Amino acid sequence: MQVPWNFRIGIVILGDSAVGKSSLLHRYTEGSFDDSRQSPLGIDFKVHYLEFDPRIVIKLLLWDTAGQERFRSISKSYMRNSVGCVLVFDVSQRQTFERVRKWHQEVVDYVQPNPMIFILVGHKCDLTAQREVQKEEGVALAKRLNMETYLEVSSKDNVNVNETFETLTRGIYEHF
Ligand code: GDP
Repeated sequence: MQVPWNFRIGIVILGDSAVGKSSLLHRYTEGSFDDSRQSPLGIDFKVHYLEFDPRIVIKLLLWDTAGQERFRSISKSYMRNSVGCVLVFDVSQRQTFERVRKWHQEVVDYVQPNPMIFILVGHKCDLTAQREVQKEEGVALAKRLNMETYLEVSSKDNVNVNETFETLTRGIYEHF
């Protein structure tokens, strides 16, 4: 389907393995969640049109990585064409939160001197009983790393999924 659009924006989705990156992309672009889905090997790419207001349609080019350790060099080549990053951790796995700084630094180092606009996602917020990272910690880290904002998201329960991409896109739109 050809949709007339005014701007084109590249966004990468990064974070540790199994934090739910591909489920997030699937929920956003296909509108569904499937617990038995296999995460794609390598790179997944989706196009999504976001209507900002009746006059502005933004074409989002969304890149999802899997098996980052193995595919690190590929991930880097498409990062160059992106201006936004959804950095995802799993609120029920503390070590994924602790690696956020490392992901952030790696991206910043790679794209510099160009800017990258980040949003931090605490994913799987439906897992309330298994929570290992508190909301305040996510808020504080996003602030410290100068990110657009922090959102608690569940692809399973469809919480804050659209908001993630809309907030990031708005941040990018206002920045450039
Ligand atoms: P990726 O490796 O980061 O792309 O992660 P996947 O999208 O493959 O998800 C890893 C696992 O987390 C899968 O079993 C998903 O079903 C599960 N998962 C993904 N999103 C959510 C969520 O919002 N809530 C819960 N409870 N599980 C999720």
